[in-house]
Amino acid sequence: MRILLLGKNGQVGWELQRALSVLGEVVALDRHRAATDYGDLAGDLSDLDGLRATIRAVSPQVIVNAGAYTAVDKAESERELAHTVNALASQVMAEEAKRLGAWLVHYSTDYVFDGTGTTPWKETDDVSPVNHYGATKLEGERLIQASGCKHLIFRTSWVYAARGNNFAKTMLRLAKDRSTLNVIADQVGVPTGADLLADVAVAALRQAWDKPELSGIYHLAPSGETTWHGYASYVIEFARKHGEELAVEAVNPIGTTEYPTPAKRPLNSRLATTKLCHSFALHLPDWQSGVTRMLMEALNK
Ligand code: NDP
Repeated sequence: MRILLLGKNGQVGWELQRALSVLGEVVALDRHRAATDYGDLAGDLSDLDGLRATIRAVSPQVIVNAGAYTAVDKAESERELAHTVNALASQVMAEEAKRLGAWLVHYSTDYVFDGTGTTPWKETDDVSPVNHYGATKLEGERLIQASGCKHLIFRTSWVYAARGNNFAKTMLRLAKDRSTLNVIADQVGVPTGADLLADVAVAALRQAWDKPELSGIYHLAPSGETTWHGYASYVIEFARKHGEELAVEAVNPIGTTEYPTPAKRPLNSRLATTKLCHSFALHLPDWQSGVTRMLMEALNK
């Protein structure tokens, strides 16, 4: 099997390089032009002609898109670029996947919903993004579905990875320097590890391979729920228990309105994962187990 992976160095892309390697040959690209067995290839998602040419040159059985314009606040001002990368590049991948009879694996977000209520969002719930990033991701989903290609779209939330920076590491850094931290306590969601996102995509792809009827959108996040404040408190407590010297004395809950950002955030980011678990006979761990693993690596415990 030949797999084309785009966005190979993002949080999820990095984990996919590992997870996909057991399925077949992986041609992995980032935004830069690179020499491969299939020629000099462009992986820039803002260059739609280049992207199409790349897919045609590799002629994969699976396209996995881990690339996206993910700067939620900046997307409000870089509107066209966010739209090209999140919506139009997805369309190119989908059209080419359809032409090749290939599967397209793609990630989307709970930000397609407006964040009202307290119930976990189901795949069939009405969408209504509250920011431009969410709108471009939603358009990407719709363009993929309209293409008629076989696809697995995983909507997820609050992604972190062991590699690079993440919310937990930022909280640890601040907790070393400051005596108080103010953290948003009215946005509810589930921290999701990039490793889980990659592993579930591979498990699902294996099963969907000869079952095109499994094509569709799936919600994917660990079990449980928390707030940014709950997440920060968990991280700080864990670090302290494991001997980290922290200056922080108080982690104060604040409201979203006290922390204004260019892009509006939904308050309810809960995702119902029943469809995914039933369709692929999967079990999802609680969010704390993935965060604990990441912290043990970060703190070298
Ligand atoms: P990252 O921001 O870690 O990675 C995104 C990758 O896309 C980066 O490697 C980036 O490259 C690449 N990229 C951006 N623009 C281009 C471009 N023009 N051409 C090629 N590559 C480009 O995101 P995640 O791994 O966290 O996200 C994976 C998926 O999950 C995305 O679809 C995202 O929308 C979705 N998601 C993410 C959430 C989160 O909290 N992060 C929450 C919900 C969903 P570079 O580093 O060079 O910019």
